[in-house]
Amino acid sequence: MGNLIVILGDQLSHDVSSLDGADVNHDLILMCEVHEEATYVKHHKQKIALIFSAMRHFARELVDRGFIIQYTKFDASDNTHSFLNEISRQLEQKSFEKIVVTHPSEYRVLQNIYSWSTHFQIHVDVREDTRFLCSMKSFADWAQGRKQLRMEYFYRQMRYNYNILMDGPSPQGGKWNYDLANRRPASTDSYIPAPYCSEPDAITQEVLSLVSEHFADHFGDLDTFHFAVTRAQALQVLNHFIEKRLLYFGDFQDAMLEGEPWMYHAHISFYLNCGLLNPLECIQAAEDAYKCGKAPLNAVEGFIRQILGWREYIRGIYWLKMPDYAEQNFFSAKRNLPEFYWTGNTKMNCLRQCVHETQQNAYAHHIQRLMVLGNFALLAGIDPKQVNEWFLIVYADAYEWVELPNVTGMILFADGGVVASKPYASGGAYINKMSNYCKNCTYNISKKYGKDACPFNYLYWDFLQRNRHQLNKNPRIAMMYKTYDRMPQDKKAAIAESASSFLSNIDLGEDI
Ligand SMILES: Cc1cc2nc3c(=O)[nH]c(=O)nc-3n(C[C@H](O)[C@H](O)[C@H](O)COP(=O)(O)OP(=O)(O)OC[C@H]3O[C@@H](n4cnc5c(N)ncnc54)[C@H](O)[C@@H]3O)c2cc1C
Ligand code: SF4
Repeated sequence: MGNLIVILGDQLSHDVSSLDGADVNHDLILMCEVHEEATYVKHHKQKIALIFSAMRHFARELVDRGFIIQYTKFDASDNTHSFLNEISRQLEQKSFEKIVVTHPSEYRVLQNIYSWSTHFQIHVDVREDTRFLCSMKSFADWAQGRKQLRMEYFYRQMRYNYNILMDGPSPQGGKWNYDLANRRPASTDSYIPAPYCSEPDAITQEVLSLVSEHFADHFGDLDTFHFAVTRAQALQVLNHFIEKRLLYFGDFQDAMLEGEPWMYHAHISFYLNCGLLNPLECIQAAEDAYKCGKAPLNAVEGFIRQILGWREYIRGIYWLKMPDYAEQNFFSAKRNLPEFYWTGNTKMNCLRQCVHETQQNAYAHHIQRLMVLGNFALLAGIDPKQVNEWFLIVYADAYEWVELPNVTGMILFADGGVVASKPYASGGAYINKMSNYCKNCTYNISKKYGKDACPFNYLYWDFLQRNRHQLNKNPRIAMMYKTYDRMPQDKKAAIAESASSFLSNIDLGEDI
């Protein structure tokens, strides 16, 4: 009697733990495109296309390796559209010793998996997801007894554990973190290599038609789909980054330019998160580039910190804090998400650019998500549930384990300071420094209040003032409160008036 091995849509790695010791003669691998997963939020069309196409390609590779596969396509007439019922169909046809599955990435799916053994009266072997570099247990051990769970200390430990960019016990170059060297704005004549672009093959074409037929009312464009859908293609994306972009990654990590959605970023989160790339191979490729003089230390360290540090840390926080983490709302924010997050129809050029690029590409780079889309949601006091849902819908790399701590923790400070030591709130000055968005904006970046002033400028002070009772004990913000308190009364009143009128315009659905 063999095992029933269930492979989920983000477990598309040939070395995934559920395949350890798999028997090609007796085990059956089940993969299914189910409605419950494709629609639990209305994912961007390109995300559904990416996952379905990558799943179909992966299944084909498993068949080439000799495995027996049961693959349920989304539009198959007998598709029951839930994991539970798809498993049930297999168990009705054949007896299995047990069900084997790798630990899912999301809490919601884990609850589903936990129900299988009771439901089917069969042993369910939930195996650790060894594709992450820090196990949930190791993260919990690291977190145990610490007053603050700062990423920086976790990251240093991970560098040490994996011996990455180390010189014995010390960091290469003498510093752990080169972030301060990574804040250069780009200019419109900067050379930016074109991103990797794969042409859809027959499998992807079929999936694109399916998505346009069944998910027409989901957010986003489909005709700009150029994602990699196989491991071989994902490796080309990684290689393309290491050869052409890594060199500039550090310097321009925070830079934004109108019409340049991809900048010098790696564009690998989609593939890391669904299993086509492995984090350690990305880290080692960057370290090798440093060792052979292809890229400077600030770029390589910055890139490695994102994967070995931030990505692992974020995943650790998610599993440490769920399920309560999804309910956090430190500032009791309750404003509805403005409609322009879906349409891009706003006079604020930075937000317009970021939303339109998100529609087109199912991608925005980190600083767009953090300092533009996220910062606005924080300053305007948008309900965390709605912000989380938006971020989960619109990006092709979005899975709750990584989206939720970034939104609730990093951008909204809704967890009260688990992830960040202070809110990432900022006026328009940083956007102006790091981008050329303000040049083409209806609003005036140098004005602090009034009808045509940049809304980020007055919303920033209004946010601090509104949430003073929650933040006034935070030593990292004390300076800002001192600055505010020194402002003349009429300036404070003008800021409050501008913010109040702008926020009520949002609530009334006016053009802003
Ligand atoms: C509000 C918000 C929401 C986000 N939602 C997601 C999400 O749903 N899925 C997702 O993968 N990333 C998310 N991120 C993190 C980050 O923005 C993306 O990983 C990154 O933009 C992906 O593009 P890239 O591959 O070009 O990344 P690069 O900038 O080239 O970085 C390399 C890799 O580092 C990792 N990384 C970098 N920053 C983070 C981070 N903060 N958390 C976790 N991993 C990180 C990613 O795997 C990324 O591919 C979010 C960030 C913010 C501020
Ligand atoms: S002026 Fe303000 S709203 Fe306009 S692009 Fe600049 S930061 Fe954005």
